[in-house]
Amino acid sequence: EAGAEEFAFQTEVSRVMNIIINSLYKTKEIFLRELISNASDAVDKVRFLGITDKAVLQDNAYLNITIEADPASRWLTIQDSGIGMTKAELKKNLGTIAKSGTADFISAVEKNKDELGLIGQFGVGFYSAFLVADRVQVISKHPSDPVQHVWESTDASKFTLAEDPSGNTLGRGTRIRLHLKDDATEFLDQTKLRELVKKYSEFVQFPIYLRTTKTVEVEAEEPETPAADAADAAEKKDEEAKEDKPVDDEMVVEDAPDAAKADAAGDKKAKTVSEEVVDWEQVNVNKPIWLRSAADVPTEDYNAFFKAYFNDADDPAAHIHFKGEGGSDFKSLLFIPRRPPNNMFQADPQSFIRNIKLFVRRVFITDELIDFLPRYLSFIKGVIDSDDFPLNVSRETVQQTRLLKVIKNKVVSKTLQMFKTLARNATSYEPLYKAYASNLKAGILEDTRNAKKLTQLLRFHSTGAPVADDGRTYMTSLDDYVERMRKGQQGIYFLTGNDLDQMRKSPYLEALTTRGYEVLLMDESLDEYVTQSVTEFDGVKLINVGKGKLTFGDEDDAAKSAEKELADEFQPLTTWLTEQFKDTVDKTLVSNRLTTTPCALIAAEGGWTGRMQEIMEAQKA
Ligand code: ADP
Ligand code: MG
Repeated sequence: EAGAEEFAFQTEVSRVMNIIINSLYKTKEIFLRELISNASDAVDKVRFLGITDKAVLQDNAYLNITIEADPASRWLTIQDSGIGMTKAELKKNLGTIAKSGTADFISAVEKNKDELGLIGQFGVGFYSAFLVADRVQVISKHPSDPVQHVWESTDASKFTLAEDPSGNTLGRGTRIRLHLKDDATEFLDQTKLRELVKKYSEFVQFPIYLRTTKTVEVEAEEPETPAADAADAAEKKDEEAKEDKPVDDEMVVEDAPDAAKADAAGDKKAKTVSEEVVDWEQVNVNKPIWLRSAADVPTEDYNAFFKAYFNDADDPAAHIHFKGEGGSDFKSLLFIPRRPPNNMFQADPQSFIRNIKLFVRRVFITDELIDFLPRYLSFIKGVIDSDDFPLNVSRETVQQTRLLKVIKNKVVSKTLQMFKTLARNATSYEPLYKAYASNLKAGILEDTRNAKKLTQLLRFHSTGAPVADDGRTYMTSLDDYVERMRKGQQGIYFLTGNDLDQMRKSPYLEALTTRGYEVLLMDESLDEYVTQSVTEFDGVKLINVGKGKLTFGDEDDAAKSAEKELADEFQPLTTWLTEQFKDTVDKTLVSNRLTTTPCALIAAEGGWTGRMQEIMEAQKA
């Protein structure tokens, strides 16, 4: 194009684009979700600005998104009346990306090509347009730039920027035009487009209109003549040029295309002719799912919403849909994803903030609530729709409110309730528990208010967990352990370590298992900390079998004097051993904790177990 400037893409963009252009990823349709999500973000920005600055809305009165396909020329257009981009923003936003986003995206796709579907999460969703298009144009008008510009690219190396020769036609917003590749023409089909918008974007809060055409039979007027045809065609062109974008609830009716009229003209006897009617059909008409009554929403709908709204490939493990009342009125829908994010305790807290979307009376306010949920629950995804905040509450001030704290406490307790319900089914809970065990344990350490509830959610391997109906042995809860305790048993015995097989052979277990006592086998490093914090459960002491002096509850006088006799008899040996190992061992004793093993190292009551020492060493390294 004349006057267009050419720019090279930043290397990171080229790398991402090459992956996309050459990808064999099958689910190309996700490009539409990404472009609609960008459009929705842009419209939301304008809505938010418009609350305080009415002027930005004057350039274009509507807040909506339109989709239009032209099968003949193979162009697909997605347009929004959002904030738009200035020339500088077009160059920056669609030409550069943060290095971390690129690296994360590339390594995720290299590991598993299906991760390409999660492209939006890496902040490079726009480039998914190149899954289906060989030429992409972005026409944009921002309120603060007097000129409308056209960005265009056909390959991974470069793009062009030019003033739009048609002038300022948008008023405000962005039009994305995709010239579809040979193998992507299905996305020109209105039925397909409607299905995809419903699938991915039904819950976008601004109306999404799809330009649909429908052929209807209407009564024939006077027979057509070629001259009338030509006049009609000219008129039609004219109309097309000024065709208005949809106005909410209105319908635009166009004249029949020439072909249809010519057909009718050929058949003089026909009383009716086919006429093509154009409709801007609003596709996302459903009430937001969280405002529907929970009793009316089938689980499949919740699952579909979760996957579409939070870009997740799997169904969630659980959802809870509830109303908060008293103190703060709000509706909420929360989900536990099946898989927690990788390395969640090392990850940047910023990467979780998008998980909770705050609305005020259906209007999206923010998904950047920092520290809204405690860190250990930051994997929870969901929507909160409050009736109490003012609509123009800002992202910053909302954080400070007491109202938000009330909501937070409710959300935490509902989340724990979800886990509690899930925990009733041992078969399905165990894999989920394993995925989130570190979170629940971290919660015990951080959230003392909910420590008891969290402790009830823990599951441990054990020497005594019964075999279930399905023939398997499940990890046990503390409640079930306490239920199975023997008469006279002094407490909940547990052993810490890092290798279950070795732990099962541990000499520490001998004296307990011979008495029929069950021992929990705690094989996670966090267990060392948890058991320092949770010292009793339901009034029953937790006893570390690798520490201090153990009592078994069957120590009668005879046993005690027998033990005393043995201690006396072996006193020369124990004194000698204590002396021999005085640099490494505190003291050597005759003990009742072993039955077949001759000796074992035991930590002092207040000291570190072997496992704890390993952990501390590992942390030093
Ligand atoms: P993300 O949406 O995660 O930021 P994208 O690659 O999807 O990443 O988009 C990159 C950026 O381009 C957006 O952050 C936004 O600034 C800009 N952008 C994309 N589409 C639009 C649009 N329709 N209107 C305004 N800005 C847009
Ligand atoms: Mg995006």
